[in-house]
Amino acid sequence: MVVTLREPMVPITEIERSAFCQTDKDLKSKTLEEEFNKGVRWQKLPISYMRTSPEELDTRITEAKAALGQRLLILGHHYQRDEVIKHADLRGDSFKLSQYAATQTKAESIVFCGVHFMAETADILSSQNQSVSLPNLTAGCSMADMARLDDVLDCWDDLQEVLGPEGVTPITYMNSPASIKAQCGRNEGIVCTSSNAPATFEWALGRRERIIFLPDQHLGRNTGLRMGIGLDEMLVWNPFKPLGGHTEDELRRARLILWQGHCSVHTRFTVPQIERARLQYPDIRVVVHPETTMEVVQAADYNGSTEYIIKVIDDAPAGSVWAVGTEVNLVNRIAAENPDKTVFCLDSVVCPCSTMYRIHPAYVAWVLEGLVEGVVVNQITVDEETSGYARIALDRMLSTV
Ligand code: SF4
Repeated sequence: MVVTLREPMVPITEIERSAFCQTDKDLKSKTLEEEFNKGVRWQKLPISYMRTSPEELDTRITEAKAALGQRLLILGHHYQRDEVIKHADLRGDSFKLSQYAATQTKAESIVFCGVHFMAETADILSSQNQSVSLPNLTAGCSMADMARLDDVLDCWDDLQEVLGPEGVTPITYMNSPASIKAQCGRNEGIVCTSSNAPATFEWALGRRERIIFLPDQHLGRNTGLRMGIGLDEMLVWNPFKPLGGHTEDELRRARLILWQGHCSVHTRFTVPQIERARLQYPDIRVVVHPETTMEVVQAADYNGSTEYIIKVIDDAPAGSVWAVGTEVNLVNRIAAENPDKTVFCLDSVVCPCSTMYRIHPAYVAWVLEGLVEGVVVNQITVDEETSGYARIALDRMLSTV
């Protein structure tokens, strides 16, 4: 039996954006009912789960996991809460987790503690006899939601008309819906991650003279600059304006067209935060994610994917001091796992990713206890056609980088 309750896209409200921000690093989970009282609109689930304490949920998740044994695989993205990530069989970034899922054929059920596009990718890469569940269907990604298929199709038609059929290659970041990955697969395009974006740019520019990069303008701009594309050769496509807000000549002159999307977590980091950190600790090293703005990347010492950030700090000498520009749950965990170093988040107001935070332990317990009863709750299924074309774009990435 499969239970899927509703579509995942629930935009983050202003209330939710700041509901779980802290200044004292206390991100401990409360009961789901208490968290709902902050004014959020997450997926509803049976009332008994709403009122169960985090401690009891912890015991129930552990018991359900033990009952399911090797039939279950729990994947946890680095940005998940501590009370959730502790139950994951593997932690990683979205691509590492999906790749791992593809090799774990023994597990009948994959529970992806992350956001919607990640569960979709796991469904595309896993085998047909495996189910993929997302514990809370409202856990989307605000950046992925900024590239709606209709808008992307309109943009693609315009670009074909102005630039011709061989004028531009689409590249989409892993953080995008399966439908956008499929659009890239259909049109000689490719998927990239934050660690292999430069290699995919090189691949694309060897084929056609322009790239359209979706949906994160910052990762696209930072990568373009790294590849020697000048700011005067880039433009931002605004989906709400005719021709993205540009003339035909401007489009013809561009080498890199950036979709107007961004990550609300990573764009919180600023150059003044880096300057303050450097004043406080003259020998500090600053490492940021390339979803931060160009100015922040240029002011930092290092930039790279979540896996890169973890490694660079793990490998650093004892006593070194690090300011980190990425999601706070990961920063706190790196700090705890590197007690011989000083590691802190660049932003003193600590805000978790609002959509990642929607995976409360109550949802994990609900999904796992369902599986114990033979019920697949919140299954994520990508239709065959979309899955096939998205897989082409993913496989191109795998064979390129
Ligand atoms: S951190 Fe940004 S890109 Fe990642 S899931 Fe949250 S909103 Fe999306």
